[in-house]
Amino acid sequence: MSGSPQRWVLASGNAGKLAEMRSLLAVLDIELVSQSEFDVPDAEETGIAFVDNALIKARHAAAHTGLPAIADDSGLAVDALDGAPGVHSARYAGTHGDDAANNAKLVAALEGLAPHERGAAFHCCLVATRTADDPVPVIAHGVWRGRVLDAPRGDHGFGYDPLFWVEADNASAAEMGAERKNAISHRARAMQQLVEQLRGHERGG
Ligand code: IMP
Repeated sequence: MSGSPQRWVLASGNAGKLAEMRSLLAVLDIELVSQSEFDVPDAEETGIAFVDNALIKARHAAAHTGLPAIADDSGLAVDALDGAPGVHSARYAGTHGDDAANNAKLVAALEGLAPHERGAAFHCCLVATRTADDPVPVIAHGVWRGRVLDAPRGDHGFGYDPLFWVEADNASAAEMGAERKNAISHRARAMQQLVEQLRGHERGG
């Protein structure tokens, strides 16, 4: 590609996500801007699957800005709970973003289960859509497997990190440093995949 970078919008107001995605997309000559720079109303996240909500948010941002858009949706899916809390991860206990209440509810839901019955995965679905009605959006899905602890451990991170045990690191996600988590997490994997796919398209692959 040549000339000035293409402007894409990120369907999120989260500064951390913007910074991380920005540095990855710079290699593709894409300049990522936050949707908070535009008057984009909140999208209604009515999906059942992570990919549903990521698509809804990406199309919504593209429709309101006229720019190509990227959106993500993420959360925790617990094997013994048939994938719950899933797309409801942020509001599992009722109030959006109440991490302590969400974690307490999860501990209670798995009470009495042995370690091998506590498998779970963080998922991150990332969608890139060139227009609001793009029939071929690019979809990436990062998965990070672990197991749910019966009590929180560690002070770093956010959300379910204190309950998410990562065998390979012998630590919970809240016990590892941000640098380590950002290298191996569901979000990191999805971002790398998305960039690879967009690169492939650029090369005509
Ligand atoms: P969002 O899609 O980034 O808004 O995340 C939805 C919810 O999933 C968050 O509010 C958290 O409860 C949970 N979640 C997503 N990613 C993580 C993570 O990396 N650590 C802990 N919780 C997460």
